[in-house]
Amino acid sequence: MCGIVGYIGKKNCVPIIIEGLKRLEYRGYDSAGIAVINEAKSTVIKNKGKVSLLEKSTENVNLNSPLGLGHTRWATHGIPNEINSHPHCNHDQSIMLIHNGIIENYQVLKTMLIKSGFKFISDTDSEVIVHLIDSFVHKGYGLFKSVRFALNEVEGTYGIAVISTKEPDKIIVAKKGSPLVIGIGENENYLASDVNALIAHTKHVVYLEDGEIAEVYADRFTAKTIEDEDIQKEIIELTMNLDEIDRGGYPTFMLKEIMEQPDSVTNSMRGRLIFEEGTAKLGGLEAVLNKLIHSKRFIISACGTSWHAGLVGEYMFEQFLRIPTEVEYASEFRYRNPIINEDDTIFFISQSGETADTLAAMKEAKRKGALVLGICNVVGSSIARESDGGVYIHAGPEIGVASTKAFTGQLTVLALITMLLARKKDMSLADGKALYNEFIQIPEKINRILALNEQIEKIAEEFKDSNNFLYLGRGYNFPVALEGALKLKEISYIHAEGYPAAEMKHGPIALVDENMPVVFIAPKDSTYDKIVSNIQEIKARKGRIIAIASEHDEEIDKLVDFTIKIPDTVRILMPMLTVVPLQLLAYHIAMKKGLNVDQPRNLAKSVTVE
Ligand code: GLU
Repeated sequence: MCGIVGYIGKKNCVPIIIEGLKRLEYRGYDSAGIAVINEAKSTVIKNKGKVSLLEKSTENVNLNSPLGLGHTRWATHGIPNEINSHPHCNHDQSIMLIHNGIIENYQVLKTMLIKSGFKFISDTDSEVIVHLIDSFVHKGYGLFKSVRFALNEVEGTYGIAVISTKEPDKIIVAKKGSPLVIGIGENENYLASDVNALIAHTKHVVYLEDGEIAEVYADRFTAKTIEDEDIQKEIIELTMNLDEIDRGGYPTFMLKEIMEQPDSVTNSMRGRLIFEEGTAKLGGLEAVLNKLIHSKRFIISACGTSWHAGLVGEYMFEQFLRIPTEVEYASEFRYRNPIINEDDTIFFISQSGETADTLAAMKEAKRKGALVLGICNVVGSSIARESDGGVYIHAGPEIGVASTKAFTGQLTVLALITMLLARKKDMSLADGKALYNEFIQIPEKINRILALNEQIEKIAEEFKDSNNFLYLGRGYNFPVALEGALKLKEISYIHAEGYPAAEMKHGPIALVDENMPVVFIAPKDSTYDKIVSNIQEIKARKGRIIAIASEHDEEIDKLVDFTIKIPDTVRILMPMLTVVPLQLLAYHIAMKKGLNVDQPRNLAKSVTVE
């Protein structure tokens, strides 16, 4: 959430910051602002709304400056308006700050600062940090020390960047709980909350860790802990390319990412499947394999779409490994003093690897001695760095706020982990090879589903004015029903619920009439006959039925209003196929309603607040 960008060097920072903010806009987009310093004079411009509006506001002002900060906000405290947007300033605009996160004790600090004569203008929690810094500057400390002292007093999470007209040769950055990365250039340096904003300028980056603070000059940087110990930071070289984060000819990032799934799933599997041994090889688990395989219990902790992937993982682990598995919302898990034993393994799934609740839950689990493993997309992210081991999904940057290719990547990795462990337990070589053969066909099968795009678009036309939707599935496809409903809610703002198909009789069936569309995920598997009975029950109550069915299933056409026929595979891999038509259905309904699918209202990518 929230995008942070900064530049210090010799160039004009304004276009660099605006371009960086545009690349981060998926992280928050309710307001945006920029602060620059030129010859010891500061200028701050802020706008409610998108970065494009901010760009317009900067066009008529001469801002040419070698030092600046930019921010795109996802409001937590105070409505999205110009005053609450960042950067926030002290009284004479000599100190300017951008912040990502939440300052939990801001009320106490605000009251104290107001008593000392500081004037607040916004409703944000963030503004207390800038006045607190100012209070130390008043006492005669330099900017770096003042920021460090201020941060010792705040509770909560932050990624911050601070500049001052009195020390215009540096940017101070610090991190606790929110991501912050420094981009290293030639006699110029950058900073951002996400490498996407830096990649056009440099591939050399330094990730700040929690509790670290750095002083970034044009030609160097130094880092310390908040407690004032010197630290050496490693410069890491990124391997991603700029074209990976462009729309590549598609009208939206979401469609591009849906259509990319044959490739992204291939990338998730690449080099990890071994036919001769009928197994998977996962480098990030090798060091912990012994402990992993002897775990008494698995817990999967995640939020949103990743939590749905976790539910599929539960079916996989319990079916093939017979290890009891629980799936937990990270936000609930961390606060109820969970029972965690040293022989538990806890998987934390997060696309960004920065999800605040998941990260906090991971730290809690680690403290209690469990083996903690990350399943993330963003390489070098906090969860990836702080876990005992893990597996990257390698789906490539996901920009669309509604997660699509990350979900299929997560399912791929969970199935690979299952295969690896099952082969160490009691899966035979022949069964391992059979699974291998099914696995490698998945990208081509997804391609065949994507070819149904036009048919799905026509179905979307029929249902775009519906106010409610029900999604029903059984077994492995129950979490897919949840995910299908979530996709629709997120981008089309239509109320949708996912249910286990049989549970429908215990409540949701009361909602069914001729206006209720019901999506059944009904491939020909062992639960098929049962789900056909559920279809009959909905049909008897005049519900309008869309079925995701197996391509050779002709019977189902007679029962339902619309069918989307997809290829079959083994049950463990089926969710990677069944979810794809649901992504397209949600996409087309939202597009037909004229909505912005890449930036749905109130949502943001990479939820770095709790
Ligand atoms: N808590 C801050 C605010 O509401 C920062 C939000 C963000 O991360 O964008 O302004």
